[in-house]
Amino acid sequence: MANSCIVMKFGGTSVGDAQAIGRVAAIVRERRSQAPVVVVSAMARVTDQLLQMARAAGSGDRKTALTLARELRERHYNTAGELLGTALFTQFHSDLGSEFEELEELLRGISAVGELTPRTTDHVAAFGEVLSSKLVTAAFSAHGIESTLVDSRECIVTDDAFTRATPLFDDTSTKIRDLLQPLLEQGRVPVMGGFIGATRTGITTTIGRGGSDFSAAIVGAGLGAEKIEIWTDVDGMMTTDPNLCPAARRIKVISFDEAAELAYFGAKVLHPATVLPAIQKNIPVYILNSRNPACEGTRIAARAPHCKNFFKAIAAKKRITIVDVAAPRMLLAHGFLKAIFEAFDRHRIPVDVVSTSEVSVSLTVDSNESIPALAADLARLADVKYEGRKAIVCLVGENLREIPGIAGQVFGELSDVKIRMISQGASEINLTFVIDEELVPSVVQRLHKAFFSELDPEIFA
Ligand code: ADP
Ligand code: ASP
Ligand code: MG
Repeated sequence: MANSCIVMKFGGTSVGDAQAIGRVAAIVRERRSQAPVVVVSAMARVTDQLLQMARAAGSGDRKTALTLARELRERHYNTAGELLGTALFTQFHSDLGSEFEELEELLRGISAVGELTPRTTDHVAAFGEVLSSKLVTAAFSAHGIESTLVDSRECIVTDDAFTRATPLFDDTSTKIRDLLQPLLEQGRVPVMGGFIGATRTGITTTIGRGGSDFSAAIVGAGLGAEKIEIWTDVDGMMTTDPNLCPAARRIKVISFDEAAELAYFGAKVLHPATVLPAIQKNIPVYILNSRNPACEGTRIAARAPHCKNFFKAIAAKKRITIVDVAAPRMLLAHGFLKAIFEAFDRHRIPVDVVSTSEVSVSLTVDSNESIPALAADLARLADVKYEGRKAIVCLVGENLREIPGIAGQVFGELSDVKIRMISQGASEINLTFVIDEELVPSVVQRLHKAFFSELDPEIFA
């Protein structure tokens, strides 16, 4: 095995402007002796803007698409201007310029055809990470860090499920080692964009929104890194989203399983799939704050120590739709669930929570535009209703496995709230229920008060 290294991933807000990128350079310099590989997201909000211009172009609105592209160009030039000295900026200007020309040409092409395919969407979305990785590499040089830009499309190999491609781990690991190992041996800091990859034949793909964390884990697993650091804009994983509940506190250590459940059910501080390649290789993951690097953050470990609190955290996921499928009694026999799940599969809609009775099945899905088509398809089997503006609330903690009566206490606290679906089981470490979306802040705050007023000092800060 090669020499040890660490992977440091910086999210959108951590590279959101010149000041933030300056902080990143200082943090990376500090870790210099640990052989860092740096993975960056697009600058904050850029992916959303790119998708917006792609959609504008797709609907034939060339003017809007190009205006948005020009704003993006300005923002990147201004940031580069602030970060780089004149000589470096002049050199960098033309490099950035050719990227923007390619983007604008692409947008013109899309608007001429008036059609936006998933494949072209990925092509546009990838610019965010291409640009930010170039910018960060140039900024590192300006800060005296010897770094080398690595094009993720040359090492993250994926299938061709555009907009949510799956990495092909064997191909990817080999390429990562071949490309990155020599750079690390020369003492250079490789910098690469997260979120993007390419098929075996070299067509650009993306691995799903928020996917840069996943990229970091794939790179970490491929290199057998000592640890993976996810740098973001909060002190670590908190007992709940601090934007929802100001009383949220930092979790010092949490198990992989708990973190995965939380991520899946809305704690967007970490991408759900991130933990998987890391678990398999037993690589510890840390969540850290680039605005407060002295804070020790959250350690995600294979096993968490015992916690005196019932739960580690509460997550909430909004924009959920409940799909109710009611069958005539005789149909609910053998094969009915299979037929329902096959319909979800045909429309490629993932299901989060399921509850069944003798005559009906309720399922939750992320609200999206494919639901009417799915419902029409399901209507051939049974009566179908769907209702949006719902939210999933999920309480997570290993104690759910051991201690009886916890669910009773949770619902006791919420005796006046209309609960639509309840699920506990599957992983045994989460208790999940569905409510109306607008109740999320009050429900989360009440549960937080009930279960996190006193904190186990070993686990929480
Ligand atoms: P990045 O741009 O670094 O990837 P994200 O916006 O994806 O950052 O994730 C960080 C955000 O996640 C925080 O600003 C916070 O609002 C949100 N968040 C949701 N739940 C939690 C939680 N339990 N702990 C910490 N942050 C959370
Ligand atoms: N830039 C991508 C997104 O906004 C990936 C990421 O930030 O993780 O989804
Ligand atoms: Mg993120």
